[in-house]
Amino acid sequence: MSLTAVLSRIDADVPQALDRLFELLRIPSISTDPAFRTACDRAADWLVKDLESIGIAAEKRVTPGHPMVVGHADGSGPHLLFYGHYDVQPVDPLELWDNDPFDPKLEDTAKGRVLRGRGTADDKGQLMTFIEACRAWKAEQGTLPCKITIFLEGEEESGSPSLVPFMEAHKDELRADLALICDTAMFESKTPAIVTMLRGMLQEEITITGPDKDLHSGYYGGIAINPIRVLSQIIATLHDETGRVTIPGFYDGVPELSDQMQAQWDALGFDHAAFLRDVDLSVPAGEQDRTPLEMTWSRPTCEVNGIWGGYTGEGFKTVLPAQAHAKISFRLVGDQDPLKIREALRGMITKMLPADCSVAFTAHGASKACVIDADDPRFEKALQALSEEWQVPAAYIGGGGSIPVAGYFQDILGTTPLLIGFGKDDDALHSPNEKYDLESFHKGMRSWARILAALT
Ligand SMILES: [Zn+2]
Repeated sequence: MSLTAVLSRIDADVPQALDRLFELLRIPSISTDPAFRTACDRAADWLVKDLESIGIAAEKRVTPGHPMVVGHADGSGPHLLFYGHYDVQPVDPLELWDNDPFDPKLEDTAKGRVLRGRGTADDKGQLMTFIEACRAWKAEQGTLPCKITIFLEGEEESGSPSLVPFMEAHKDELRADLALICDTAMFESKTPAIVTMLRGMLQEEITITGPDKDLHSGYYGGIAINPIRVLSQIIATLHDETGRVTIPGFYDGVPELSDQMQAQWDALGFDHAAFLRDVDLSVPAGEQDRTPLEMTWSRPTCEVNGIWGGYTGEGFKTVLPAQAHAKISFRLVGDQDPLKIREALRGMITKMLPADCSVAFTAHGASKACVIDADDPRFEKALQALSEEWQVPAAYIGGGGSIPVAGYFQDILGTTPLLIGFGKDDDALHSPNEKYDLESFHKGMRSWARILAALT
């Protein structure tokens, strides 16, 4: 039983694996701050060396930003592309950390042992779960069960400016049968999960102009149009009384959940009351005929992120403002086309404008949702492997945030992404005192070892 031997090897090597991870964590590879440029470079060098130590031919590849690390290892099975990122978020406010963020420690907490430090969960701890699984396979079997390409970037936390150009330029080298991405979390901290949908995004800024200057509401109030009133009326019409978005054609391309997926989500028993209670709320506020999980993962949204105009300072000023502004964003699903929706939104608002008002639009981000076909036998195998390792049925879930690289793998390489991560809800990603459970690290390594075996 080769897998059993590999799993035992992982168990025996946990202390060494932690030593290696801590070495990587001590390198302060904050990608967004130019002061840490050489640290990012050192992290890439460290990874190249570590990959070479397990027989994966690796190189640091220069980009206009921070380098990529690319490594290749031959194997007999399918070709897998593994993605992770070695850069981390800034650490400020530093005074909120209990320890030096770049002096990682093992800590005992009420919920078990954790690895504490910047990058433990996002994403160095996660990416090392895969590398350590490869190391154990190599050590036990002398070879990897699959052909593997490792692809690590150093700009994920700063918008990945070099990622698309690099992928475009190295399509043939990176294209694989399946892409593995380890940068996500488990479901409600206890159920291992494969993320199969990530919502897209559309962002639009709106400025309504009425009079040519701010007016005195004593002289002009009543006879002059108030742009804030106009903007409020427009915003109030974006949802109907059932919570549906009213923009014409908004729901074009929004798929219904398959019965199978619906049943699986129902079985997750999502505790929406607890989810809302955490933020002092109680009632799901999305489309009323949808379940709370659908609202969170598979339905599109429209949110007003900011609204301003007139006088908002101390005291009171009875101004009738010349302009009113709003920032509105949409989370998109399925095949929704962000550019079409932008056009429809602009058309709808322009039509609603009363006399003497004008509107200016500023386009911000626009990206389609990423929908991964879970009806893939390889996903079923990975799900099975996760269930065996964690002794809990693993789940297909949606993702609230966005992981653009998943879409790039689909669109640029034509490679299906399989998103599996072992983060927990309370890991404090991007925050002070970031941690990664020792259980996540240990079972994460074991999970990948099982998945590699399952995919051969
Ligand atoms: Zn990350």
